Formats: sequence, C-alpha cells, structure tokens
Amino acid sequence: MAVDEDTTDGSLPVTVLKGVGPKAAERLERLGIYTVGDVLFHLPLRYQDRSRVLAIGAVRPGMQVVVEGEINHSEIRFGRRRSLLVHLSDGTGSMILRFFHFSAAQKNNLAPGNRLRCFGEVRRGQKQVEMIHPEYEFAEPDSTGDNVQQAPDSLTPIYPTTEGMHQLSWRSLTDQCLEYLTSDRERLPDLLVLDASHYPSLKDSLLYLHRPPVDADLALLSEGEHPAQQRLSLEELVAHQVSLRQMRYRHRVHRSPALKHAGSLSLRFIENLPFTLTTAQQRTVQAISEDLSRSHPMMRLVQGDVGSGKTVVAALAALQAIEAGYQVALMAPTELLAEQHLKNFSDWFSVLGIESGWLTGRIKGKARKQLLEDLAVGRIQILIGTHALFQDEVMYQKLGLVIIDEQHRFGVHQRLALKEKGHGADQSMVPHQLVMTATPIPRTLAMTAFADLDVSVIDELPPGRTPVSTVLVSDERREEVVKRVAQACRGGRQAYWVCTLIEESEALQCQAAEDTANMLAEQLSELSIGLVHGRLSSQQKETVMQHFKQGEVDLLVATTVIEVGVDVPNASLMIIENPERLGLSQLHQLRGRVGRGSVESHCLLMYHAPLSQQSQERLAVMRETTDGFVVAQKDLELRGPGEVLGTRQTGEMQLRIADLLRDQALLPQAQLLAEELIEQTPQNADLLVNRWLGSRLDYANV
Ligand code: ADP
Ligand code: MG
Repeated sequence: MAVDEDTTDGSLPVTVLKGVGPKAAERLERLGIYTVGDVLFHLPLRYQDRSRVLAIGAVRPGMQVVVEGEINHSEIRFGRRRSLLVHLSDGTGSMILRFFHFSAAQKNNLAPGNRLRCFGEVRRGQKQVEMIHPEYEFAEPDSTGDNVQQAPDSLTPIYPTTEGMHQLSWRSLTDQCLEYLTSDRERLPDLLVLDASHYPSLKDSLLYLHRPPVDADLALLSEGEHPAQQRLSLEELVAHQVSLRQMRYRHRVHRSPALKHAGSLSLRFIENLPFTLTTAQQRTVQAISEDLSRSHPMMRLVQGDVGSGKTVVAALAALQAIEAGYQVALMAPTELLAEQHLKNFSDWFSVLGIESGWLTGRIKGKARKQLLEDLAVGRIQILIGTHALFQDEVMYQKLGLVIIDEQHRFGVHQRLALKEKGHGADQSMVPHQLVMTATPIPRTLAMTAFADLDVSVIDELPPGRTPVSTVLVSDERREEVVKRVAQACRGGRQAYWVCTLIEESEALQCQAAEDTANMLAEQLSELSIGLVHGRLSSQQKETVMQHFKQGEVDLLVATTVIEVGVDVPNASLMIIENPERLGLSQLHQLRGRVGRGSVESHCLLMYHAPLSQQSQERLAVMRETTDGFVVAQKDLELRGPGEVLGTRQTGEMQLRIADLLRDQALLPQAQLLAEELIEQTPQNADLLVNRWLGSRLDYANV
C-alpha cells in the first residue's frame, strides 16, 4: 500500500487501519479523530507498569495488578445478575475473575487448564479476592514452573476513550499507526532551537509517548514534564499562537468607521459626573478613543475588578461613537444588569439630548415594532439590552460600536454574531467592539485565551472605598452570624446570604436556599427577607432584586445567581455558606457585591469544618487580599485554567497536551516561533494549525 507522504499531518483516513470499519470510524469521529495522524496525536492519559507479575497470594483489594495463573474451574452463576466466574490460581493463592457480559465463545475459551495473564483492579469478594472484567490474554502453558512469560517491553498506555472503544483496540490502532510514523516531518521552523533545548524529534516524541520504555520516569510523565511531552506542548502552543494571529490578520481585512469626534459630548458628560476619573480609567478611555478613531475594527477587552468603574468608561466610548454620528449597542448577560445600565445611561445621556432604547426578549408587539423602526431610522442612538440585540430582525441604521458587559457569560459565537450586524448598506464594514469583564485574568492566560483582543486593565479602584474585610467562621458559630446580620440590618444596612451546594442539581440548590430563607425568617422575624434562585423566572428575580435595591428587603438570601454586577451600595454584609465549595474567582465576584458604598463592608465565609489543607490555603487568600488579580493568579495555581476561565471559554482553546499553567515558561518561545513560522514557512504554519486544531478551527472562525 502506498503510504501517505506525510502521515503525521494525517491525510490517511482511519479506515485504512485493520479493525476500523464504519462503526469504529464513527466512534473515533466522536473524539475528533479522522486520520492516522489524528490517532498519532491521541496520546495516553496515563501509563501502567504491567511488566511485573504479582503472586496472587500477595494481591490486596484496591491494587491494580498483573497476575498470571491457571484456570481451575469456571461456572455460570444465576443470581441477581447472571455472571461468569472464573477461578484462577498460581500456587500462591487463588482469585475469581467475574464477568457480567460474556459470549458463549468466551465462556468456552475460559476453560480449565488454560493459563491467563490478567490485568485489573483487585476487589474484596465474598470468600476471596476478585477482579471484575479484567483485561486478559492467554499465556503460554508454563512447563518449567518458572515464570517465563515475556513481560511487555513498554509501559502500558491508557488512552482517553469513548463508549465502545476498549483499551485493547486503542493499543492495536496505535500499534498500526506507529508503523506509519516513518517520515519525520518537523513543522517547527528552526531545528536548532529544538536541538539547543534538547527536545527529541517529533517522531521520537510520539514513539516514546505511545510506548514508553518500562524504565521511563512515570512521575515525570504524569506531570507532563518529560522532554517528549514538552516538545509537543511547545508545538501545540505554537499552533495556537499561529491560529490566533491568523484570526487577527483575517480580521484586519474588515473595515470599521473611523469615529472622529471633537469630544464635546464627553466633556459635558465628565463635567456632570460627581467624581473625577481615576488615572486607570483615563488611560483606558484614551486607548479606546485611539482605537475608535481608526478605520480598522477595535477588538478591546477591558478588565477591571468589580467596582473599578467600567461603566463610565463604556459611556465615554459610546459618546465618541454617538458624536461621530453612529449608533451604539450595549449588551449585558442578564435583564437585571441590562436594566441597571439602562438606568445609568439614560440618566447620564438624556441631559445630553441622546436617545436610549431598551430591548429584551420580553419587549413584544407594538412596542417592539416601534423600537425596531426607531432603530432602523437612527432615532435611537444607543440600544441597551440582552442577547435580544443579536436577533436577525434587529436592524441598525449605522451601528458603529458594540459594547459587551461581563463577557464571561457570552461565547465567542455571540461576540461575532453582533459583529455581523455591520452597519446598514456597506456589508464590508463591521462595528468596533469593546468587551468588559470583571473577572481578572492572569496575564499568561489572557495572552493565549484572548490573543485576538487588545487588553486594557483598570487596576485601580476609585478613591474612598474601604476594602471589604473578610473573616472565616466555622458554621458552628451560625448563631453569632445570624445576630450579626440582625445588627447590621437594624442599623439600616442590608445584607446578602449566599447558599452554595455541591450538587449539580439546580432543584436542590434552590431548595437549600428556600430552607435557609425560611429558617432565617423565623429567627429574624423583624426583618424583611427576599429570596432569589435559579428556579425563579427572570421577572420574579428582578422584582426581588428591585425591592432589595430600593431598600424594601433587608436581607437577600440567594444562590450564586447574584454573582454578576448587581450594584446595591447600601449592602455592607455578605455571608457565604460553605465557601470551600466555590472557586476563588467566584468568591471574589460574590464578595464584590459588597463594599460598593463608603461604609466598611464585611464578608463572612462560613465554612464547614474540618477544612482540607487546600481549602484552608484557598480561603486564606480571600482573607489576605481584595486584589482580583492576586486572587485570579492563586486560583490559576490551585485549580488550573479550565476552572478559571470557565468551560465555555476553554472550549474555545482546549489544549490537548500543553497546560497553560505548567507550560507558562514555553509561551514566549511559542510566540517567537509562531511569528517566524508565519513569515518564513507559511505552509508549515498552516499544516501545524491543521495538525493541532484541525476540526476545531471552524469553531474558532465562526
Ligand atoms: P464595575 O467596574 O464593577 O462595573 P461600576 O462601573 O458599576 O463598576 O462602578 C461602581 C461604582 O463606582 C458606581 O457607583 C460608579 O458610579 C462609581 N465610580 C466609577 N468611577 C468612579 C470614580 N472615578 N470615582 C468615584 N466613583 C466612581
Ligand atoms: Mg459593571
């Protein structure tokens, strides 16, 4: 058979492999595997050392072992579940192999007198130890009495898999594919770079990782620190950098209106503010203003801790667009937040003679028709709302700027759908984009996850804020905590009580919040208590939040749905139950709901003892700092990037081998290599992106 010239880049379909028919091909597709090359890059999750056969007499429940012995006897048991029991012994002891699924042929093969080598986890059985569905193979009859069976000459790889694909199939597939791995095609630009860093070649790396020698350093491999892994991590990071750069270049072909303004609206707006902008706000506004005045699209992410004053920054961006004669769309992830923006913006903008509009899914009928018409003719200058702003029938007259608040709730899909809105007739024009997030993202992560965006950081809080003081209390002191709430509320303050539950079930979470609210209502009968949770309709939620904002509710009991952006300056106390169940970034977001006014605020983390070492460490971070970036960096170190960015975000940049935290040090090199590759061997750049991102690319390009 003609071997594809470069199989590692994988144009050879998996169906060339023995044992891969249409059904298996379909299963592989589920894992994004289409070609021989894809299989080669499907690397083991971990390895097992099966080179040592253990005496059956020495195995203990819980161990993963290889044993070898002779079948004494096998029988089918009809009990609660039909099962095949195979009794195996090796002279030092005996054990049972138990199969719930088995064929007639299998039963016949597992006949007395045959020798088996089995691998599996040992369990405690009724009379003797057992293995359930072990992996097994027939061993040569042992004539000498010695254990002469040849041991595997490599560690046994365990592959990530999908239903219907067994480890044995994976081993057979990869065995076959490794045969194809004859050509050694480096895609990285300068082999010297690799040599100097002592990385093995691509071919050697793949061979090693699929079949490590029995003396390989398992600890190093499981940490992902082996040179073979590091080499591939570097390559993967390069592929990502290349792809992000390409995305950015592609984006450059779009044009946007250059939003020039004399700045008179901005000046009047600033004069009306009861405060002066912080230096960080000014710097950010300046950067945005320069972006907007250019004729290629702005793609800027503004990161600012909760309360850092992102809204006025957004307002100033909007004013520049409006003064230049363009419309602005401002989108928030929830109606509540959108409404908060509507209130701020219409207060600020109506005195400047600017028309604001409001659009959510709930605006229907006549009102909606009128609004869409006003928008289409340009009577509305800024449209505020939820994702309803994306809908097809929403037509702008001249959309110049899109602002997205708290973009963690939005995926790239949505970001780009709005971009499509273009403005009016000229299809090649796209609006500028400003994305605001309150989740501080550590630099290394931002560089990779958001390399398609420019980033501004508002790293300074407005003056006069007293940082929230955070204390840890055990839930054994719940009574005291309740008293503390009563005290604060009697003093005219408001408080949050946040319930967390580890269960995924939303119903259970809501139930817990309801129970807590009822209990607190009994203990604190003089207070007015509100309840919000995910089971309420958005209208119901909003009503409660409104009451809280207006001071009619003293104590708000909530699940973590209150996480984002709600501004109630009079709330100065927050209780978080079982904070050990939440990530640091989430705790930080929650805590940001208090400390918005001038009075000193407190956050009580009411944990359930005993705390694990790691939980203690994590919660200590909350007590020691209120700086979101410090919190985020710690979170990254303790939990890894997937958790910090949220699954939706990482879905867009899922890394197969590289790990942003572990491999941070490779990033600068990856960036240099990516640049070099694009400039000097663009075809290699494309091949590399294809190798690592392949099918995922369409997604990134929506
Ligand atoms: P966030 O960045 O969390 O969205 P906001 O924009 O809601 O923060 O601002 C929080 C509060 O701080 C608001 O009440 C806002 O009016 C106020 N604020 C914003 N900038 C300043 C400033 N420079 N000086 C004083 N207060 C400010
Ligand atoms: Mg905000």
